[in-house]
Amino acid sequence: MFDLEKIVEPVLGLCGLESDLTEEERAIQEVAHSFAKNVMRPIGAELDKMTAEEVVAPGSPLFAYMRQVHESGLLDLGALAAMDSQQKSRIMPLIFEELGWGDSGLAIATLASSFPAYAAHNSGNAEIIERFGALPGCWLATQPDRGSDIVDIDADLVPRGTKQSRGNLYARVVGDEVIIQGQSSAWVSYAPLAQTALAYIPCDYGNGLEHENGAGLNHIAILIPLDLPGVSKGKPLEKLGQRALPQGEIYFNEVRVPRKYALAEGEAAITSFFGALTFGNMEMAATFTGVARAAFEHALAYVHERKQGGTPIINHQSVQLRTFDLWQKVELSRAIAHRVFAYNYSEKGPHLLASITSKTYVTETAFQVASEALQLFGGNGLTKEYPIEKLMRDARASMIEDGETNVLKLKGMRWLSRAYQRAN
Ligand SMILES: Cc1cc2nc3c(=O)[nH]c(=O)nc-3n(C[C@H](O)[C@H](O)[C@H](O)COP(=O)(O)OP(=O)(O)OC[C@H]3O[C@@H](n4cnc5c(N)ncnc54)[C@H](O)[C@@H]3O)c2cc1C
Repeated sequence: MFDLEKIVEPVLGLCGLESDLTEEERAIQEVAHSFAKNVMRPIGAELDKMTAEEVVAPGSPLFAYMRQVHESGLLDLGALAAMDSQQKSRIMPLIFEELGWGDSGLAIATLASSFPAYAAHNSGNAEIIERFGALPGCWLATQPDRGSDIVDIDADLVPRGTKQSRGNLYARVVGDEVIIQGQSSAWVSYAPLAQTALAYIPCDYGNGLEHENGAGLNHIAILIPLDLPGVSKGKPLEKLGQRALPQGEIYFNEVRVPRKYALAEGEAAITSFFGALTFGNMEMAATFTGVARAAFEHALAYVHERKQGGTPIINHQSVQLRTFDLWQKVELSRAIAHRVFAYNYSEKGPHLLASITSKTYVTETAFQVASEALQLFGGNGLTKEYPIEKLMRDARASMIEDGETNVLKLKGMRWLSRAYQRAN
C-alpha cells in the first residue's frame, strides 16, 4: 500500500495523468502545444468557415500553416527517422496528440501530404529521393468503386465465390513503363495541392488484373509525379468535418510513369499497403486523442462558467459525473494510443491489428466525447460561436477516414480468430 504523508492535489500534465516525461519529451510537447494553440487553432477555425475552393485558392491561410509547420520542424522526416525506436514510440504520440488538439484537419493535411516524401526516403534510392523527397504529395488508394475493398486489399473479407470490384483506376506494366488509366475517389487527402502521389493501384503485369486467389486484384505501389501529361484533378470536395483538409479526385488519361518509380510490385505491394495503413491508423489514434482532449477541456471550462439552477452547472452532481466520464475516456484513448505506438516500435511489431485496435477505439471515443461535450454546452454547443460542433464534425469524419471503422474491426477480428485457431 502507499504510505501518504498528507493529502495533496493531483499533479496533472498537459496530457492528464502523465507520469514520466523526460526533459526532451516535455520540451517537444511544449513546442507542439504552443504551435497547436497559436497557429493551428486560429487557422483551422478560419479554414473551417471557408468553401473547399477557397481553402486551396492562392492566399489561403492553409499555405501559411504549411509553411509554419515545416519551419517548426515538428514533423521533420530526417529528425523522426534518426530517433531510436523507443524515442519514436514515446515522442510521436505526444506530437500527434498536440497537433490533433490544435486542428485534426491540418494535422492530417501535414501527414498525408508527406506520405510520398516519406516513402521516397524509406526507399533509400537516391534518384527517387531526389525526385519525390521534398515535394508535397498525397496517398492515393481509394477509388469511386473501391473504398473498403482497398482496405481489404488482400481480399480476406470477400465471401467465397464472389470477387471484389475491378474499380475505376488501373495500371498496366509495359516494358519499363507503367501506364495508368482511370480516376481516384474524391477522398484523396491533399490531392488538390499535391505534386506527387504514393499510389496503390490494381495492376496488370501481363496476366490480367485478377489476383491468383480469385477474389482480389494484383497491385502496384508506385510514386507518381502529378505534372506528367494526362494527369488532371477534380474540384475540391465539400464535406462535413476536417474542412481544413483539402480533398479531391485525380484523373489519369494513359499516364506513362517510369517503372523505376515503383516501390513494390505484386505481393510486395500488398505488404507495402499494410505498412502504410499500419502507420496511418496508429497516427490517427494519437491525433484523435487530441481531439477528444480538446472537447473535454472546452466542456470542463464551460461547466464552470455556465449558470443554471442558480449555480454554475458544475455544481450539479449529474454534470460532475458526465464531465468525469469525458476525462476518463480521454485517458483511456491516450493509454491505448501510446500502448500501440510502443507495440509497433517494439521487436514484436509493427502490426495492423494493433493499429486498428487503437484507431477504431479512439476515433469512436473522440466522437462520443465531442458529442457529450456538446450536450453539456446545451444549445450553445450547436452554434458556430463555440468550438464544440466543429470538433464533433471533425471526429465524425475520422470514423470513415483511413478505413471505415467496421471494416477495420472485421480485418482485426480475422487475425484474432486465426490466432485462436492456431492455439487450439
Ligand atoms: C476524411 C477522410 C480522409 C480520407 N483520406 C483518404 C486518402 O488520403 N486517400 C485515399 O485513398 N482515401 C482516403 N479516404 C477514403 C477512405 O479511406 C474511404 O472513405 C473508406 O475506406 C471507406 O470507403 P467508402 O467511403 O467507399 O465506403 P464503402 O466502402 O462504400 O463502405 C460503405 C459501408 O459499407 C460497409 N462495408 C463495405 N465493405 C464491407 C465488407 N467487406 N464487410 C462489411 N461491411 C462492409 C462499410 O462498413 C460502410 O459502412 C478518406 C476518407 C475520409 C472520410
